[in-house]
Amino acid sequence: MTEHVADLIILEPAPVAAPLSELGEGPCWDPASQSLFWVDIPAGRVHRLDGGGEHSCWDVGLPVGAVVPRASGGLALAAGNGFHALDTGTGQVTELAPAPGKPDTRMNDGKCDRAGRFYAGTMANDESPGQGSFYRLDTDGTVTELFTGLGISNGVGWSPDDRLMYYIDSFAYRVDVLDYDPRTGQLGERRPFARLGSGDIVPDGLAVDSDGGVWVAVWGGGVIQRYDPAGRLIGAVRLPASYVTSCAFGGPALDQLYVTTAAGPGRCAGALFTCPAGVAGLPAYPYGG
Ligand code: CA
Repeated sequence: MTEHVADLIILEPAPVAAPLSELGEGPCWDPASQSLFWVDIPAGRVHRLDGGGEHSCWDVGLPVGAVVPRASGGLALAAGNGFHALDTGTGQVTELAPAPGKPDTRMNDGKCDRAGRFYAGTMANDESPGQGSFYRLDTDGTVTELFTGLGISNGVGWSPDDRLMYYIDSFAYRVDVLDYDPRTGQLGERRPFARLGSGDIVPDGLAVDSDGGVWVAVWGGGVIQRYDPAGRLIGAVRLPASYVTSCAFGGPALDQLYVTTAAGPGRCAGALFTCPAGVAGLPAYPYGG
């Protein structure tokens, strides 16, 4: 998997006492409620684990690819064929804006930048290549299509200074990086940051730490790989489950790593895992609209 194995820092997280997911995804730490949210995409379920370890969930009636807190209260979702709001008190789901993509596609991974813009992309329901797009939902409710022709639009994140956006199309077998203007959301040219995977082993979700390290979940690889800002592999997180989907930093000091997995080969497949990360992560930002 790497030529740097001898130098790697290896972490081995343990499963959390919470329900298993068919396709656990999109972990997101909400500092306001000190709780971790994640989704089970095909189940259309949003999970929450609060600081005391109490679990709760909402069934939203749509395949849900990503969940983020919403500045005005409740949650925002990339779900079905667009962006939605979830009232966590009533469980009611209302559409914020459609993301008009190709037929037979659904929303997948997403995240907000520091200014509260919500970025998320799509993939074909049958994983046909070239059907996905990547969108930005601005705080005024406007949706902009940024990339098209994607395989599986997946992880997104920003450097500590917000000057770079990291982005994964899983079928490209790469993490890409783009210059980013945090004031306007303007994107520069998309270029390779790190190449990984082959065949059914693909990069999936990502998270960025406060040192600028990029943590990439490797679907089919049972691992999260950590890259330094130059794109060199510097660490790994080993999971007993093969389908590792995404990761996020949480806890009061943002130094606890949370990892989502999907049902499949290995032990505790579909569990949420956690361990001390050894470094603090960058905070997740709420949707500002
Ligand atoms: Ca994913």
